[in-house]
Amino acid sequence: MPLSPADERDLDRMRPVDEVRTLVLHYAKALSTEAVGLALATGRTLATDLIAAADQPPFPAAIMDGFAVQADDGSPWREIIGAQMAGQVTAPEVTPGTAVRITTGAPMPPGADAVVQVEATDLSDDNHVIIHQDHVEPGQFVRPVGFDVRTGDVLLSTGTLLGFAEVGMLAGEGQLPVMVARRPRVSVLSTGDELVEPGEPLGPGQIRDANRFSLVAALEAAGAEVVWSGKAPDEREPLRALLLDRLTDSDVVVTSGGVSMGELDLVKALLPEVATVHARRVFMKPGKPLNFATAGDDDRTLFFGLPGNPVSALACFELFVRPALLKMLGRAVIDRPMVPVRLAAGATPGDRPEYQRAVVRVHTDGHLVAETTGVQASSRLASWVGANALVLIPPGETPLEAGHVVRSTLLGTPLGPI
Ligand code: AMP
Ligand code: MG
Repeated sequence: MPLSPADERDLDRMRPVDEVRTLVLHYAKALSTEAVGLALATGRTLATDLIAAADQPPFPAAIMDGFAVQADDGSPWREIIGAQMAGQVTAPEVTPGTAVRITTGAPMPPGADAVVQVEATDLSDDNHVIIHQDHVEPGQFVRPVGFDVRTGDVLLSTGTLLGFAEVGMLAGEGQLPVMVARRPRVSVLSTGDELVEPGEPLGPGQIRDANRFSLVAALEAAGAEVVWSGKAPDEREPLRALLLDRLTDSDVVVTSGGVSMGELDLVKALLPEVATVHARRVFMKPGKPLNFATAGDDDRTLFFGLPGNPVSALACFELFVRPALLKMLGRAVIDRPMVPVRLAAGATPGDRPEYQRAVVRVHTDGHLVAETTGVQASSRLASWVGANALVLIPPGETPLEAGHVVRSTLLGTPLGPI
């Protein structure tokens, strides 16, 4: 539907980052869930709470290799009446004057209430052990029932990103299969007549398509499933057909290029014909011309028209697309940590909030120091390489001096001091 001049004016209003973020998150709805095997669970988002069905350990267990004894047994040596290895329950009852060999993880034999570690013993012969410990506490080196996990404990909650420990926890609880959020199905489209594939030679005026590949990588790292990626020319009909096709077959469509003020910025021009446009400009640098739209039943398909400049595209991805994807996944935490950092060098604020790519290090005294990655042009993808933070330089007139504290989004782990 063509937009009225009033609609056009409202769409072209420069919106603060937070306003656009709120708008995007309003439309980003949790996706359905699916069952996967443990081997495929890493990196997925848990869609149910994991509640402990039983105590762990389910029996009192030895936590040292040694001898199971009665703690208050004062005998200087004990007769070895059997052995209990992990996984076995065959040992006879321990009585005063006796001991049972035991290994870590084995159930305590009946009658025994403590373990003397092998280092504190000597064998007097094959059948007798001398204990070199004056006082043995009841419960010594015994892990009681429910020490690690108690029945009813919430071990993992809905919205948890499944990493190594979490997958082990699911396995330990015998949780098969695992209910996880369905991954958002995403299509990625680069637009621009100047673009050629990375494997092709460059003709006059051409550049290689970088955005499609950085965006696919960023999407997959955020937990999305890229179901389609391709390139479109700056021509109305093929572009319109592709946009319609992708919008009907994706949860999220991400394009790059074609959203600024140029006459061939056709994504912006065609978008109102295929989707409901909600925003076109964000008060930020880089990444001002972001087009956000929705389509389909209940506006469930999200459309992000990212700017063509490679850094602008990634900045908009970080600020808007990634949180939307994590919300669709039902993730409990959708934001990266925002922390105060000190500027390693002075900075000149501009007229918009600026997200500078930087390397953040932990100083020896504990505070964080941010050093930018050099020239911050939105075309210079090298400014993102190695960056572990987006440092937010607020707009203003006064230059910021080295040491000034600003807020920074951590994209990765801060490095150690140099
Ligand atoms: P546009 O937003 O289409 O006006 O593009 C802005 C700038 O980004 C231009 O210099 C484009 O050549 C460049 N650009 C657009 N798409 C890509 C892409 N996929 N990879 C690398 N650079 C691009
Ligand atoms: Mg273009």
